[in-house]
Amino acid sequence: MQYVLISSCLLGNPVRYDGRGVPNGDAVLARWLAEGRVVPVCPEVAGGMPIPRPPAEIEPGRLAAAVLDAGARVVAVTGEDVTLPFVHGAQAALAAARERGIRVAVLKEGSPSCGSGYVYDGHFVGRRQPGVGVTAELLTRAGLRVFSEKQWAEAEACLVECEARHVD
Ligand code: SF4
Repeated sequence: MQYVLISSCLLGNPVRYDGRGVPNGDAVLARWLAEGRVVPVCPEVAGGMPIPRPPAEIEPGRLAAAVLDAGARVVAVTGEDVTLPFVHGAQAALAAARERGIRVAVLKEGSPSCGSGYVYDGHFVGRRQPGVGVTAELLTRAGLRVFSEKQWAEAEACLVECEARHVD
């Protein structure tokens, strides 16, 4: 059986920067939970960040790829450089995925760690820009398919395809 990596906050766990969860009631997730496939991960907490914590964004004009490769930073609204815990958290998520041979992840959209379609632009004004979070970038590089909580059907199709190919 293929396991799936899921952002812990989507399961309702109160791990977000604001100390809350964002429980998701999609039927696909409910089925995966019942099947015992779900491996929860919160990269920011795994990387050592507290709950609650100040919101953070990738610095303006940079991408997650540059955080991993080129010295770009993740910065909290307080001005604190939180790059290291974000990178460590991404590595922890990848280690969790590798431990179970996971190839599909569904992560919370918009997060500087978990976003897979958009992130915020680094000015803390709620402005979105196309891009991915640091964890989503690292997982994608490692060959995982990363989806957001708006793409359960796509994620499920990908999982079914994985299982059909017996690639676990
Ligand atoms: S979006 Fe990712 S890093 Fe943020 S609380 Fe959810 S699981 Fe943790």
